[in-house]
Amino acid sequence: MDFLRRFMAGRYGSDQLNKALLLLGIILIVVEWITRWQWMGVFILALLILCYFRMFSRNIQARYAENQWFLRKWGPISVRLHNMKLRFQDRKTHRYYKCPQCKQRLRVPRGRGKINITCPHCHHQFIRKS
Ligand SMILES: [Zn+2]
Repeated sequence: MDFLRRFMAGRYGSDQLNKALLLLGIILIVVEWITRWQWMGVFILALLILCYFRMFSRNIQARYAENQWFLRKWGPISVRLHNMKLRFQDRKTHRYYKCPQCKQRLRVPRGRGKINITCPHCHHQFIRKS
């Protein structure tokens, strides 16, 4: 353990981007295993090398900047995925509409027939079947 600590001193280590790369690597390994596309091994190897390169890198500033870039890109995607999950979870009890005016997403209980919806964001009114 002491050797490892000394070895890692001044090196970057792991971050969210590396975890995402590793996860992608694992997914690719499974895909390769299912499809038997052996050429994917090249990408998997490249991913793993990239992971290790970033972990053991001494250029902490550059690695930090890469991770910040990744988090900026990933943030909106993860919000989207989270929203999709919520929508899927209450698909039986609620319907989702987009306000035609401001594109705000609205959540309405199902089974109320035709209803007049007022957007809480811009107060635009529109009629939808729930
Ligand atoms: Zn609106």
